[in-house]
Formats: sequence, C-alpha cells, structure tokens
Amino acid sequence: MNKNKPQAGVKRILIANRGEIAVRVIRTCREMGIETVAVYSEADKDNLHVRLADKAVCIGPAPSSKSYLVMQNIVMAALNTNSEAIHPGVGFLSENAAFARLVKENGIIFIGPDPDVIELLGDKVKARETAQKYGLPITPGTGAVNAKDGKAVEAAMKLGFPVIIKAAAGGGGKGMRIVRKSEELAENISIASREAESNFADGTVFIEKYLENPRHVELQILADGNGNVAVLGERDCTVQKNHQKLIEESPSPGVTEKMRKAMAAGAVPMFKELKYRGAGTIEFLADGNNFYFMEVNARVQVEHPVSEYVTNVDIIRQQILACTEGRMEINPNAITLNGWSIECRINALTPGAITRLEIPGGIGVRFDSFLYNGCFVPPHYDSMVAKLIVHGTDRNHALARMDRALRELVIEGIKTNIERQRFIINHNVFRSGDFGTSWYAQIEKEVENGR
Ligand code: ADP
Repeated sequence: MNKNKPQAGVKRILIANRGEIAVRVIRTCREMGIETVAVYSEADKDNLHVRLADKAVCIGPAPSSKSYLVMQNIVMAALNTNSEAIHPGVGFLSENAAFARLVKENGIIFIGPDPDVIELLGDKVKARETAQKYGLPITPGTGAVNAKDGKAVEAAMKLGFPVIIKAAAGGGGKGMRIVRKSEELAENISIASREAESNFADGTVFIEKYLENPRHVELQILADGNGNVAVLGERDCTVQKNHQKLIEESPSPGVTEKMRKAMAAGAVPMFKELKYRGAGTIEFLADGNNFYFMEVNARVQVEHPVSEYVTNVDIIRQQILACTEGRMEINPNAITLNGWSIECRINALTPGAITRLEIPGGIGVRFDSFLYNGCFVPPHYDSMVAKLIVHGTDRNHALARMDRALRELVIEGIKTNIERQRFIINHNVFRSGDFGTSWYAQIEKEVENGR
C-alpha cells in the first residue's frame, strides 16, 4: 500500500496546542470548512483558541507536563470528539515521533511528516548525516561524543576553538554550550550531556565549530509526500537573544540569488527522498557566501507568516491538504517572491491580565495573537503573546511600516518588549542589514535602556 495515498478530505481537526498558533490553525480550518476541536489546560479555559473552536476539551491542569504534553489525553480527546486529524502546532508535541506514532496507531491523521521522518530529522546527528548524503555542506563538526572519550578533545582541537556542544535531541535554543578552551571541553560535555538527558531524555551530544557571527537563514518547505516539494523562499532569523529568535524577515538581506538557488538545490532532493509531507524548515548558518546545514524543523514554524506574505500562500492550508489529501494547491515551479516582510515577536515580560489592547491595522499589517481585552496571560507557558507582521514593497518600506505598526500597538496590564523591538528595528545596524547572530548580545544593554 502506498502510505502517501491521498485520503478523503477531513471534516474535523483537533488542535493539540494553545495560544497564538492554535488560533492561527483554527482560522484556516474555518476558511476550509473544517470543524475544529480545541484542547486546553485549566489555566486556559478562557483562552481565545477555546472561544474560536467549535468544540473544546479540557485535558488537565496548568503545567504543560500534565496537559499539553500528555499524549494519551490528547489522543483520547480526538477519539471522543471524532476528530479525523490532529494538528500539533509548534512546540509541545509537534516534533515528537512517539506522539505522531500514537496518533497514527489510533487511526487519526497526524498533520506532519511520517513518524520515522520526524525521528530521523529530530536527531541532529542523524539529520547532519542525511544532509551530507544529499551534498549539503554541514557545519564542520563531529558525530556523537562522550566526555570520557579522549577522541572528543582531539576532534575539537582539529575543528579549532571555539566550538559549540549541542544536544542531538535539542531544540528551542536549549542544550547548547560554547567552549573556548580545550581544558574546559570534557567538563562541558558532561554537563551538556546531563542537561540533555534531563531536558530531552537523551544525553547524546555532538560538537560543531562555533561560527562567531553568522546569519541564521532557513528555507520554508511545503511538500505533498508524492514528489512535489516547494521552496517558499528563505527567512532570516539572525536577531536572536540566547539563541532564540526575536525578529524574522523574508527575504534575507544577506542571501544572494546564487545562494538561494544553491540552498534549494540541496534541500529539495533531500525532502523528496524522505517523502516529506507538510510544512518544514531547513535551517542554515550563513557566513559570507558560504552556508552550512544546521537542522530541519519537521513542523510549521512561528515565523511562517513572513513567507506567507512574500509568497501569498497560506502555509497552514497547504500543510493540511498535503497531510490529509496528499496534494497541494501550489505549483513548486511557480512560486514567486514579492516585496519584503518582517515579523516582530511580542513577548510578555510578566504574566497578568490585559487591561487595554489596541491592535495596529492598515495596509500590509497582520497581528497574530491570542490576546483580547481582559484576557489573562498565565505564567505557565511560552512568553510569546503575539506576532506583529508587516509587508512592504522593499525592506525600507517594510521597516517604516513596522515602526508605525509598533507605535500603534498598545498592550497594557503586562510588561512587553514592544519598545525594545522598536529600538532594534530603528537601529542603524539593523537598518543596514549587515549583522550576525551575536549582534543582539552586543547591543542588549542599549536595547534594555531604550537608548
Ligand atoms: P535549536 O534547535 O535549539 O533552535 P539550532 O541548532 O537551530 O538549535 O541553533 C539555534 C541557534 O544557535 C542558531 O540560530 C545560531 O544562532 C546558534 N548556533 C547553532 N549552531 C551554531 C554554530 N555552529 N555556530 C554558531 N552559532 C550556532
């Protein structure tokens, strides 16, 4: 049997997530005539996704370990509501192969690639080997290492310090340690491995050459599992605080047409060969004109709206069609990129009740959020409460639009990073487009003081 055989269109999808991404998925489902089932923790009973979905099921108390991460409860909720598919959103169980497998075993469609593909790509060591097989340059580095093995130090010496120790199962900017001296290597491998074990239940770590100030560039992929793989341009996610993305844009100010083509030429055969299905991202570090494969995120990403703006494709819609029907409405050879899009992540610096909310609007402005007047931002989850996304004809136009949209945005009752984002997008270095991943750390004090 062809496991990628198109399935009949689904009528009801359960969304195994909360907040902004759950709202995002519900919106597209509504437009597709698909009913939605929300799941929520006790702390989220008044969350916007619960209000917008057709049905909602409480899956446990506030801590995500007792609610959004409990696979059995989520699958049970899907079975009890006759949901034919589960959309995992981002974070939580979205890249958990065991969850995807459990969903599949229960006769429910998982909106994502096959569990075996998630497993392969979720292991950064295996993903690097896979990328290399398809001729993609990878960041110089090792396979799995352990602290007692003298070979690790030898390998790091060969790479040259600084190096970065990473957890094979890591994610979300966690589980990485930069080491600048050989005598600190063994101890850091032990610490990293212990941290990886407790955070990701897998202590495997590996070493990469640490690039001092590269750009983070990634390709948005959409694939139907039947040989059609589309690249929806690249995103630049170089502005990062502690390896976590703050601002994203498409296209990248540091990517030439030649690089864009070379990245896609390596990525497409890999996704084809893997029979990849749905939305995915292949991440690279770029150093001048060189680029190195870093990892694949086998799910939709927070920053997908900038790609939606420049390609005019609803990524969630195509993801759902790809995974439930084995088809897409886009032609991989006819993707065109128009204008420039920028996204600012709006983070809550404190939890609390929203006492006033004014949402920016006008041409080329999009606000993806779960906030509404009077809602409560609980302390238990990711701090991102909104994404402000703009589109303009070129980068300067998009920047001017972002500045005016950030000026219009008012969120009261909690502390947010709105002013910090305004400071960054108006900074002359950001405006120049010439910066790397270490840049934010260099100006962090300035940003915090709003100077
Ligand atoms: P995660 O899966 O936790 O997001 P990634 O492997 O995607 O981790 O890396 C996140 C960020 O960490 C990158 O965008 C980059 O800023 C930094 N990073 C990762 N590997 C390297 C490296 N070899 N050299 C320099 N920076 C790196």
